[in-house]
Amino acid sequence: MQKTFKNLIEEVHNKGICQECGGCVSFCSSAEYDVIGQKDPYSPPEYINEDRCLECGICYYICPQTHILDDELNKTYNFTDFSSKPIGNYADIFSCQATDKEFLENGTDGGVVNSIINFLMEKKLIDGAVVSRTDAPFSREATYADSKYDLLKASGAKLDISPQLDEIQKFCTYTHSIPKLNHYKFKKLAVVGTPCQLYTIRCMQDLGVTPSENIEICLGLFCYENFFFEKFQIQKFEKDFNIKFSDIVKINIKEDVIFKIKDEGSGEKIIHIPFNHLNDYMRPACNACNDFTNIYADISFGGLSSNDKYTTVIPRTEKGKEILSKVINAGVINCMELDSEKKNKMINLITQFSKSKIKRKENFMKNLK
Ligand SMILES: Cc1cc2nc3c(=O)[nH]c(=O)nc-3n(C[C@H](O)[C@H](O)[C@H](O)COP(=O)(O)OP(=O)(O)OC[C@H]3O[C@@H](n4cnc5c(N)ncnc54)[C@H](O)[C@@H]3O)c2cc1C
Ligand code: SF4
Ligand code: SF4
Ligand code: SF4
Repeated sequence: MQKTFKNLIEEVHNKGICQECGGCVSFCSSAEYDVIGQKDPYSPPEYINEDRCLECGICYYICPQTHILDDELNKTYNFTDFSSKPIGNYADIFSCQATDKEFLENGTDGGVVNSIINFLMEKKLIDGAVVSRTDAPFSREATYADSKYDLLKASGAKLDISPQLDEIQKFCTYTHSIPKLNHYKFKKLAVVGTPCQLYTIRCMQDLGVTPSENIEICLGLFCYENFFFEKFQIQKFEKDFNIKFSDIVKINIKEDVIFKIKDEGSGEKIIHIPFNHLNDYMRPACNACNDFTNIYADISFGGLSSNDKYTTVIPRTEKGKEILSKVINAGVINCMELDSEKKNKMINLITQFSKSKIKRKENFMKNLK
């Protein structure tokens, strides 16, 4: 019998492993159907109009927690399994920086992702991109960018607005961008996403279902975990680390999580917090995720293994390689000279984090009822 959203509730939501990627919602929440939806973006989707469910099973197929289409995707993206390829199939590795000063200054790392999107828009290869802009520390919202101005507003985690630290507000580094795709399905899009988000897009593309048809390029971010804060966690965080939430200027992620904090004396100071000190703030479903480097992206990007103000760039697909060589040739980004020893060092460090994430999932799933 065809599995449906009912089975997602049973096998994914009730086990606490829904990653809230929004894939199922984006497919099944068009104006005509509106079968399922997320009443609160911080909780798993639910039935809105159960009687309209056609029991087609697509939501079940595209969910990153059911892994039904893994074999298909692995064939397309030349991946075998995490034990033999912990960082997926990759063509090369680079460490790059935007040549545009504004993208570099406002970027999370080297400002490379937004520079590439800007280039693709200028060359009319895409109409725009679904990206994410900072609302407050640890809080982002999906947004559509079709100009350099929009992209700069969505760059990095720099705060140019005074954060509204409302007592009941929840904060999350995860962005609910996939359901947004429905609004832009007639545009040629680039999508920036975490591994769970791009997984669901690749499944939709494999099945040929909406709203994936116009996604021209998937730009994947590395992702060890995402964070979630409610009021008591904010208070605990401020007490544990002696950091005022509202003083956080920028967050970077490399071997640990790096906070740039406003400081009365020196102006700004840097604090490093290891991932394992942040377990109380991690989204629980991230424990059930084993992809660190975004193996199905066209190009993957991260801070890990690159110097400050540089982005690690891993092209994977033919399209990804082609676009990267175009942006390099056009002088949109500069890449560091890396010999094979340096490249191996980068790969080894990224592999180490990937293996740690794979192990974390194995341990978590063993204890899952
Ligand atoms: C939640 C999260 C976790 C990450 N974890 C790691 C990690 O563990 N290790 C690591 O090495 N790198 C991690 N990264 C990637 C890293 O922080 C940088 O995003 C990456 O290096 C690209 O930097 P850049 O300066 O080239 O990007 P920029 O040019 O600054 O562009 C970044 C793009 O990402 C978009 N964006 C920002 N946040 C989100 C989000 N939550 N969802 C979707 N899009 C978003 C922005 O809108 C922008 O378009 C993570 C990123 C995010 C968002
Ligand atoms: S109609 Fe299909 S995709 Fe929508 S909830 Fe039902 S089974 Fe899932
Ligand atoms: S597709 Fe995403 S949001 Fe829907 S059940 Fe699966 S993990 Fe949760
Ligand atoms: S670790 Fe990152 S990719 Fe995995 S579920 Fe969490 S947010 Fe998604």
